Amino acid sequence: MGEKTSRLRQALAETQESEQQVLETVLAEQGPLLRGTFGRRRRVCGTAGCRCTKGELHESAILTAGVEGRMRQVHVPACDEARVAEGVERYRRFRQAKTKLIDLAKRKIMLVDRLSQALLAPYPKDRPLPPPKRFLRGERQKRRRSE
Ligand SMILES: [Zn+2]
Repeated sequence: MGEKTSRLRQALAETQESEQQVLETVLAEQGPLLRGTFGRRRRVCGTAGCRCTKGELHESAILTAGVEGRMRQVHVPACDEARVAEGVERYRRFRQAKTKLIDLAKRKIMLVDRLSQALLAPYPKDRPLPPPKRFLRGERQKRRRSE
């Protein structure tokens, strides 16, 4: 039991450390965050004799984001391009950090469950009480995952 529980404690401490690191990047974020994706669009304008009809397409920067289930695009003027690209990248990193925090929190709970399972003692010895349902459920999920 000793070796297993010390491994679990170690894993818990490491998970906590990772969480702290991610949290620091979240706390350091000053914004602004911009939702969506930043990209470029090349197109033909339709004006007769324009350079785009000879293959020199017009290029413009756009920000694309979902609004109420629909994708919307807005033109980004050249003077805003750098700022918008940075904001979009900051938003992407922020969301990534959030996902990481969710995963780490789940991992911590799983490790706490496993630690209490490892520490749980049957009592009385001749006819022990069954383990709590919560652990049984955890065991079933683990079995399903390994199948
Ligand atoms: Zn044109």
